[in-house]
Amino acid sequence: MSATAVCPECEFAFDAGDLEPGETLACLECGLTLQVLGRGDNGVELRMIEADLPDWGQ
Ligand SMILES: [Zn+2]
Repeated sequence: MSATAVCPECEFAFDAGDLEPGETLACLECGLTLQVLGRGDNGVELRMIEADLPDWGQ
């Protein structure tokens, strides 16, 4: 069964039928790092997470 996920940032919708809760992916449109929360009534729920940025300080 296919499921649709929608990016919370740019609202780009894509098929996420293979994604498991806890998985992370990059939005195909804006490149934001997203984590799969789980499956809701309207498809796969995503939230944006902080990407692992390199330590830019000293
Ligand atoms: Zn996006």
